[in-house]
Amino acid sequence: MNKFNYFKPSTLTEASEILRKYGENAHILNGGTDLVVRIREDLLNPEAVVDIKGIEELHHINYNEKEGLTVGACVSLSDMAHNEAVVKHFPVIADSAEVVGSGQIRNLATMVGNNCNASPLADTATPLLALDANLLVYSPEGNKKISIHDFFVGVRKTSLKTGEIVIAIRVPSYTSMKGVFKKASRRKDVDLSTVCTTVVRINNDEIRIALGAVAPTPIRAKKAEGFAKGKDLTDEVVHQIAKLAVEDATPIDDVRGSKEYRLHMVEVLVRRSLEELRY
Ligand SMILES: Cc1cc2nc3c(=O)[nH]c(=O)nc-3n(C[C@H](O)[C@H](O)[C@H](O)COP(=O)(O)OP(=O)(O)OC[C@H]3O[C@@H](n4cnc5c(N)ncnc54)[C@H](O)[C@@H]3O)c2cc1C
Repeated sequence: MNKFNYFKPSTLTEASEILRKYGENAHILNGGTDLVVRIREDLLNPEAVVDIKGIEELHHINYNEKEGLTVGACVSLSDMAHNEAVVKHFPVIADSAEVVGSGQIRNLATMVGNNCNASPLADTATPLLALDANLLVYSPEGNKKISIHDFFVGVRKTSLKTGEIVIAIRVPSYTSMKGVFKKASRRKDVDLSTVCTTVVRINNDEIRIALGAVAPTPIRAKKAEGFAKGKDLTDEVVHQIAKLAVEDATPIDDVRGSKEYRLHMVEVLVRRSLEELRY
């Protein structure tokens, strides 16, 4: 590991200035559970590491009916998964956070870091995609909102520009929403997803399906969603939706599973989720 400059600013303006000064050689440090591993393994050699945990405004989590849920960048996965509003209104997000790594990892790791890392298999990405979340972003040109659908642009690539920092993730509130998160991995605990899925049912007539680890970014299964719209979830419809969900997936073979296994698991996980959503 090479030496680097460590900064711990207390404002977003200060953090952004440092990031702009060092350009692509600077990295934001949040929980550090992805970044530190990559630095230690010499996959990254930063000149500057900007620790954002000293910025007080990034540590809050709020819920209200009008704006929905706002999870600050530095809120740990453990704190978020056990937050009363998350458990009550967005249990599907809590469920996805609860399977990330181990208890020790979840005490450090954040949902913002999980998504900014832009891994195709990030567990908390699929519920956020299914629920049309937005990222609230500090930008030197003025704060902005990025839809999660425009955020992931490739493996480990987001649409953030130099000097931009995600302040929080905001999830809209729904009058009627039920969701199921599922993860297939080589072992039950402390393992990355071979495939993960989130299926949500909104207002009893809309089904949304998000898939992880089966494309360069987490994706929505649009063909299956279009077919499902307004239909009763009979056995035959559930079977058809699950089959169609596979059509948007373009997985690769890797150490966690073959392409064929992943395609099969998309169908299995989506079918099981829909069966749970019927009741
Ligand atoms: C043992 C182990 C097991 C794991 N298991 C899982 C698992 O089961 N599922 C899973 O999905 N992940 C897993 N991970 C990966 C990791 O824990 C998660 O991705 C974690 O949520 C990352 O959050 P963090 O706060 O630690 O991010 P960091 O490591 O601090 O940052 C990750 C990336 O996001 C950027 N970033 C962070 N915050 C911001 C911000 N506010 N604005 C802009 N960019 C930002 C950083 O610069 C970096 O590029 C595991 C990791 C380990 C070490």
